[in-house]
Amino acid sequence: VIHSGLSYRPGSLKAQLCTSGRSALLAWCRRHGIEHAVTGKLVVATDAGQLGALRDLARRGEANGLAVERLGAQGLRDRAPAVAGVAALHVPATGLVDFATVTRSFAGSLEAAGVELRLGHAVGAIAETRRGVVVDAGGTSLRARWLVVCAGLQADHVARSAGLRAGLRIVPFRGEYHELAHERRPLVPLPVYPVPDPSLPFLGVHLTPHLDGRVTVGPNAVLAAGRERYRRQLLDGEALRSVAELAGDAAVRRMAARWWRAGAWELARSRSTRLLARSVQRLVPDIDRHDLTPTAAGIRAQAVDDQGRLLDDFAIARTPRSVHVLNAPSPAATASLAIGQHLADVVLHLESAT
Ligand SMILES: Cc1cc2nc3c(=O)[nH]c(=O)nc-3n(C[C@H](O)[C@H](O)[C@H](O)COP(=O)(O)OP(=O)(O)OC[C@H]3O[C@@H](n4cnc5c(N)ncnc54)[C@H](O)[C@@H]3O)c2cc1C
Repeated sequence: VIHSGLSYRPGSLKAQLCTSGRSALLAWCRRHGIEHAVTGKLVVATDAGQLGALRDLARRGEANGLAVERLGAQGLRDRAPAVAGVAALHVPATGLVDFATVTRSFAGSLEAAGVELRLGHAVGAIAETRRGVVVDAGGTSLRARWLVVCAGLQADHVARSAGLRAGLRIVPFRGEYHELAHERRPLVPLPVYPVPDPSLPFLGVHLTPHLDGRVTVGPNAVLAAGRERYRRQLLDGEALRSVAELAGDAAVRRMAARWWRAGAWELARSRSTRLLARSVQRLVPDIDRHDLTPTAAGIRAQAVDDQGRLLDDFAIARTPRSVHVLNAPSPAATASLAIGQHLADVVLHLESAT
């Protein structure tokens, strides 16, 4: 999803970089002939208790410069007849693109500009000198004046190798998806979201049509049994090591103490298609559990601070010679070109100050 920037705190890095990144991404897609669609999205309040949060969300979106259309129950039915709710927001700026295609086009443009891409080179030791940095990557030693690190799920480990103590650790949250049965696809003509819990940095299980016609339902947010365990969660040696690493960290225990209820609910819904279907039916009543087939999962790299708080905003920190992206969850794909520009500005500023 090319996110609009509806729910981010005005003035935050997320809000700024999502807004500028969305425009830059759309311009990139147009320039490089990448198929995309600006479909808009719906955020749906399914009971009167969510109306206050929906109002706050609309104000937030407007403070972020977005057009936000407020719909009553009838207005919602007119826009998406299969979607049920007492009120909704329609945000026209949201769009869709296949991000793997976008990433391949970034890679192609970089190579055409003379950049060498070394894939499959795991970064190990990082040593800084007064004049630069030496990186051990897949058995070769690379020297540079500056190092920029975007290591996603390994961001904290790589930062530590560079001597950065940022008081953050990455906690991996699995986001599982289901695919909607072919004959139900017309029920979801545009992305449909629930009203998010403003105290959590997740958007809630939503329905997303894709450019190839598929409709996915998800993602949930379940503590992952390993940072890169994209396949099914099994309780094996790797999972136990991962649980031991998490449980051994006081900050993660604080996080778990605060969020155990939400965590238990997510776990139960991950195990039961019936519970998942019940969440989905609140938004689209005609969908039942037989319409949902499990499909690929993703894993979010979510930074947690020493107090056990889930970091909401993007986080970037640096040593004298390296700049590290330490928290770049969604909408970092939407914002990627703007994040790149921001990182380049940081390095150019450092270069001009030396
Ligand atoms: C389920 C899910 C759904 C999402 N949906 C959206 C969406 O709809 N819209 C949106 O805008 N964003 C979305 N996002 C967010 C977006 O995908 C991420 O925010 C973005 O990919 C973060 O980029 P990154 O470069 O920081 O990390 P990554 O994309 O994770 O890239 C990090 C790279 O570093 C490599 N790496 C790690 N350690 C090392 C090492 N030691 N040596 C060498 N390489 C290393 C990894 O292999 C990886 O290739 C979603 C994320 C998830 C998980």
